[in-house]
Amino acid sequence: AALARIEATDGRVGAFLAVTAERARERAAAADARAARGARLGPLDGVPLAVKDLFLTRGVATTAASRILAGFVPPYDAAVVERLEAAGAVLLGKLNLDEFAMGSSNENSAVKPCHNPWDLARTPGGSSGGSAAALAARQAFGTLGTDTGGSIREPAAFCGVVGLKPTYGRVSRYGVVAFASSLDQPGPLGRTVGDAAALLQVIAGRDARDLTSSTRPVDDYGAALEEGARGLTVGVPRAWLAEGVEAGVARRVKEALALYERLGAKLVDVELPHTKYGIAAYYLIAPAEASSNLARYDGVRFGLREGGAGGLKGMYGATRAAGFGAEPKRRIMLGTYALSAGYYDAYYLRAQKVRTLLRRDFERAFERCDVIAGPVTPAVAFRLGEKVADPLAMYLEDVFTVTCNLAALPGLSVPCGLHPEQQLPVGLQLIGRPFDEATLLRAARALE
Ligand code: GLN
Repeated sequence: AALARIEATDGRVGAFLAVTAERARERAAAADARAARGARLGPLDGVPLAVKDLFLTRGVATTAASRILAGFVPPYDAAVVERLEAAGAVLLGKLNLDEFAMGSSNENSAVKPCHNPWDLARTPGGSSGGSAAALAARQAFGTLGTDTGGSIREPAAFCGVVGLKPTYGRVSRYGVVAFASSLDQPGPLGRTVGDAAALLQVIAGRDARDLTSSTRPVDDYGAALEEGARGLTVGVPRAWLAEGVEAGVARRVKEALALYERLGAKLVDVELPHTKYGIAAYYLIAPAEASSNLARYDGVRFGLREGGAGGLKGMYGATRAAGFGAEPKRRIMLGTYALSAGYYDAYYLRAQKVRTLLRRDFERAFERCDVIAGPVTPAVAFRLGEKVADPLAMYLEDVFTVTCNLAALPGLSVPCGLHPEQQLPVGLQLIGRPFDEATLLRAARALE
């Protein structure tokens, strides 16, 4: 049914970069056979899922939506892909994204655009646009994305689904194409909070192949899910609801806060005074780390190779000129500049100091509350093409999402109704204490 739905809808949506139909049918048949003989089933047995094309899949091309990875077929699976398959999941294919996960609208995909199923003229968000669109279009029952500065939460908000960025270190990055290594974190998207919790349960946990992966035991996310909002203290950064948030979005977020009160939660005001430096710090740190990570695409080890003449340097230059799109090139230049001798202290080091200030903001806020609630984005899904010519306008989409990554905290987006005039989904963002995904999921579930 999922494959038929993809076949019927994806010509218009563009969520999939590859559909692995044969492999999916085989795995589904194997799951049926397990069920028929009464075998012990895995927690995701037979469930059709799909993953962002940033996760390595053994024997299946992985492109990161970049020309520079053309022809690259990974020899191993990402840790999270291994875990999904070990739990019985049936992978349907690889999902569209912004090139190397750089973007907020999926328009930086070098392969094709992705459309928001709610309104095909609008963006599904990015960078995990395909991961959110595939759920909204009812093509898959759950997906994985990655979130470096909002790439799970923003598309989830734009497409009316649930998206969770776990605490940095909760989920293994092994086999995930690296963008900004100190910020990247894989996470689940689901049609419901319960679905996202079920996926997180499977992918979370220590993996010795990612040295930043945490040894902390994984909570039982299902157990806390139905506890409701009673007894929770919800922190509200009032400034996040004032300037720069479109009125219809602010209204739905305030209604969700009022609902929390009616459900027995307590609201308290909190201050996150350094939020205003988040975008500046993020757009130094993320490009700096990206410039280093993207150095490996040199035409020697992976994918594309251009320019036979002109020696080694000529080959590097021709390959990178032809292989990278405009956004990765912009970030490689920004990042290389910020890391240059003489500029390091002024930019990169300074941004790292802001990161510490942001972490302290949150620590102080979490002395007074269990979760922080606010908008995911300043407005609903924008039109395709609206911001492509203006990278700074695009970067400002991330104003409410990047601080959570800079502080390494878990963050979640849960639908909180449709925009009153535009009739498009609005997301409520919940941010939690480190490794307290259980409380985030519980708080989100209370709103469903
Ligand atoms: N939109 C942000 C960026 O372009 C975040 C991307 C992400 O989280 N991968 O960097």
